[in-house]
Amino acid sequence: MSIPLKYLSTYSPTVQNQVQQMLDKNTLEKYLLHKYPNVHDVTNDKRLRCYVMDIKNQYLKKSSPLSQIKFDDKIHIINNALGLHTYVSRVQGNKLKSKNEIRIGSLFKKAPEAFLSMITVHELAHLKEKDHNKAFYKLCQYMMSDYHQVELDLRIYLTQIEQFGDIY
Ligand SMILES: [Zn+2]
Repeated sequence: MSIPLKYLSTYSPTVQNQVQQMLDKNTLEKYLLHKYPNVHDVTNDKRLRCYVMDIKNQYLKKSSPLSQIKFDDKIHIINNALGLHTYVSRVQGNKLKSKNEIRIGSLFKKAPEAFLSMITVHELAHLKEKDHNKAFYKLCQYMMSDYHQVELDLRIYLTQIEQFGDIY
């Protein structure tokens, strides 16, 4: 009996079958390690801040400023595999100020750079587009041309590590 592929539920049956077959044959790890052999070195909040700001300055210079950028180990991969983008409202004096934060799940601390890049691009795109609509994905692709392939591979990675544990 196979376990439903919850991270891949929005993909076509063809894709899901392919991944299920690779899971059954236990070849996903090999696929991932071959395609993404190395992990990045963005291992703390300070480096993450530089990493995110570099991408933001390159593509979305004029979008809203970010008050905080950090890894968050409370972001559970099951509840929110794709990170958490929060709009925090704080009262300052008599004004209510909205602030943008980007929090990236701690599982991305030790992962291939492509996955960190993809999640960063995803969260940055939310500065302009709140919903996962056409404009949102267009923006993601503008920042990362192979965005869709990497998102699929990230979901394959999550499927793999949940069933068989860490591979990096
Ligand atoms: Zn999103």
